[in-house]
Amino acid sequence: LDDRDGVIWLDGEFVPWRTARLHVLSHGLHYGGSVFEGERAYGGQVFKLSEHSARLVASARLMGFELPWSAAELDAATRETVAVAGLTDGYVRPVAWRGSDTLRLVAPDTSVHVAVAAWPWPRIFTDGPRGIRLRTSRWRRPAPDTAPVTAKTAAAYALGSLAGQEAEEAGCDDALLLDHRGRLAEATGANLFLVLDGALHTPPPECVLDGITRRTVIALAHALGLTVVERHLAPAELDRATEVFLTGTAYEVQPVTAVDDRHYPLGEVGAALAAAYARAVRGEEALPGPGFASAATPGER
Ligand code: PMP
Repeated sequence: LDDRDGVIWLDGEFVPWRTARLHVLSHGLHYGGSVFEGERAYGGQVFKLSEHSARLVASARLMGFELPWSAAELDAATRETVAVAGLTDGYVRPVAWRGSDTLRLVAPDTSVHVAVAAWPWPRIFTDGPRGIRLRTSRWRRPAPDTAPVTAKTAAAYALGSLAGQEAEEAGCDDALLLDHRGRLAEATGANLFLVLDGALHTPPPECVLDGITRRTVIALAHALGLTVVERHLAPAELDRATEVFLTGTAYEVQPVTAVDDRHYPLGEVGAALAAAYARAVRGEEALPGPGFASAATPGER
């Protein structure tokens, strides 16, 4: 990924892709003083850009540092990066980290760096739209008083990286993590939805990242007349689910066809939401705001 043409926005200017480096003594490398976002451009526009920039700023604050750029400035830098890259459809990765001024763990005055890279990246799972297989991980999402679970920080992704690697080594596509109490939580980079008796059920964003796609899909589900229940889910409820899918910027609405030994069909609820999401990201579907109510049913749309 580091050996390619193009430029990366780094601390306010564009630098050649291959030389966008940081110092080996950076706090972000040693102690996880790093936060990031995963964004996606459709037709040259980053979907939910301001929500992502705001989450980057919020993640940094949760990790005890301030970014040298406002959310609005990050929006502008991201738009410029996408435009300079000539990117229509692809992935955008803003990242911010504490620098190399000191090797002290507690480093409130350390410089903070920000970079934004954008490149074409059509799908996270390479062989096209199909269901993926999950494997329940032996690693659990920590409690909210054990780690800053709502921050999108590199520090939290050591766990997801390890869980995902173990799932792949076992021949699965991704890991399903339980939370510290053994309830269903999320995949390594996506939120979890179960269809139970025709309604959507998803864990509350307590030990999981409050996904921007998750919120979008909940709004789209309401617009389709579906019932959405945010509650804690026991792993045994996977036995009763008629459909399972994941949501995330990179995953979009990704059907799951197996969790361990359980198998699921590519169902119509997931398909309807995937289609609605595909329209929404291209601005072809009005996204209802809070308080939106609709009598429309899936069959009517
Ligand atoms: N959970 C985790 C652990 C993630 O990394 C992501 C991806 N950012 C998500 C959920 C989904 O979040 P979003 O919909 O904002 O991409």
